[in-house]
Amino acid sequence: MRLILLGPPGAGKGTQAEGIVQKYNIPHISTGDIFRAALREGTEMGLKAKGYMDSGQLVPDEIVVGVVTERLRKSDCVKGFLLDGFPRNANQAEALDKVVEHMSIKIDGVINIDVPDEELVDRLTGRRMCKGCGASFHVKFKAPKVRNVCDSCGGELYQRDDDTVETAKERLEIYHSQTAPLIEYYTKKGVILNINGNQDMKAVLAEIIEALGKIE
Ligand code: ADP
Ligand code: AMP
Repeated sequence: MRLILLGPPGAGKGTQAEGIVQKYNIPHISTGDIFRAALREGTEMGLKAKGYMDSGQLVPDEIVVGVVTERLRKSDCVKGFLLDGFPRNANQAEALDKVVEHMSIKIDGVINIDVPDEELVDRLTGRRMCKGCGASFHVKFKAPKVRNVCDSCGGELYQRDDDTVETAKERLEIYHSQTAPLIEYYTKKGVILNINGNQDMKAVLAEIIEALGKIE
């Protein structure tokens, strides 16, 4: 399965990715996770991305496309992959089309998780991430068993610098102007799978797995 997770910030892409990659045994490729890891390691790419991320802007296409192209060429992607947070605008989608064409593969499905804006700011500001494994929790909707400790790996939880009310609103605006048009782009290609993300996390996963079952 070669899949893309599309949806606004806070829609539950990272949350649902855990269940999807477990079922299909494919790598989870989150561009946001890649940039946060690069920043922790203090690489040049991470430092370049930081300013954009902190203000809620998109990292320039040439950086993101380069990172994804390199990642898709790794051997673990031969069996499939789940892209999360990429592509995020028309230029990135067209660049991805070229990469997959060059690799003689195709995208099987684009999982579009739909959640109304009024839910998203609460989801983003209450989000807590694991420093160890990147798992995402929520102070109300998915509280860890022990406060600030990851249920999966025992790592310390932290709040992302860009999960403030102000930056969340900026990211939502960018989503609507630049990323949401990709729903039509992939609908025209016949690969979109529309999922109601405004329900319990388990119900969202069940809807995704059912939709993927139809394209297997
Ligand atoms: P994304 O990767 O799309 O930005 P996340 O998966 O990190 O979003 O989810 C954002 C926040 O919302 C997290 O704190 C997560 O625990 C919470 N969340 C995810 N799905 C749901 C849901 N269906 N209902 C309530 N909260 C959710
Ligand atoms: P995410 O973890 O998906 O919420 O992404 C966090 C931040 O990383 C975004 O707000 C952007 O600054 C940057 N980023 C992640 N993916 C992309 C992308 N495909 N294009 C541009 N910037 C990105």
